[in-house]
Amino acid sequence: MERLVKCYGTFTAVDGISLQVREGEFFGFLGPNGAGKTTTINAIAGLAHKSGGRIAVFGHDNERDWRRARRLVGLSPQEYNFDRYLSLRDVLIFAAGYYGARGKAVAERADMLLDRFGLTPHAHREYTRISGGQKRRLSLARALIHEPRLLILDEPTAGVDVELRLELWQWLRELNREGLTIFLTTHYLEEAEKLCRRIAIIRGGKIVTEKPTEELLAAGESLQDVFLELTRN
Ligand code: ATP
Repeated sequence: MERLVKCYGTFTAVDGISLQVREGEFFGFLGPNGAGKTTTINAIAGLAHKSGGRIAVFGHDNERDWRRARRLVGLSPQEYNFDRYLSLRDVLIFAAGYYGARGKAVAERADMLLDRFGLTPHAHREYTRISGGQKRRLSLARALIHEPRLLILDEPTAGVDVELRLELWQWLRELNREGLTIFLTTHYLEEAEKLCRRIAIIRGGKIVTEKPTEELLAAGESLQDVFLELTRN
């Protein structure tokens, strides 16, 4: 991503940021409320028009070559946008259809993902009848249905209990080990510290640091201290 700019009217939410996430990396993108994280994510996923700059996903420009770029990205958004009346299995199958994938292979992948995230017993239940934790897991499964190479997670463990959080971390580590590149946004700094190899911090639409996690913490401070120092008004 080079010099990404996103304005809403006269307000500049993302102000010329450049970031390079390497293939296979677990990258953390942190910042206070309103810093521009979701706006950046939406621009990468092709959900928001950029006001300036360039984004390439594994070499594919996400405007000129948007079809291929979008196919490579799986997004688990902060706010759910599921069809309320579909079963969990159909949520996954419909999402695959959005990328032009259908048939037996998709049904098998949906069943595999339901199983991987412990949702098989609820596969035929309507989306409205599952718990918050189950929705988080479904959101992750949906982001993976079309076999993306980059997984973008916007607050993947907000509102989940301790046990599920640990389980989600384990799944994310496994997915990363299998080669998936992960771009994570979270307000939960322990999560970023535990999972991410490199971290960027955004404040007021500008990147204030971008370093390997180890280097960021080299002075012996906690990530919370570093974060507060860099983002304090
Ligand atoms: P949070 O951690 O609270 O989710 P964030 O870092 O994801 O915050 P964004 O949602 O990207 O922040 O918002 C960045 C800024 O852009 C905020 O000041 C927000 O009010 C503004 N903003 C976001 N979406 C719009 C919109 N559709 N119209 C106008 N302003 C917007």
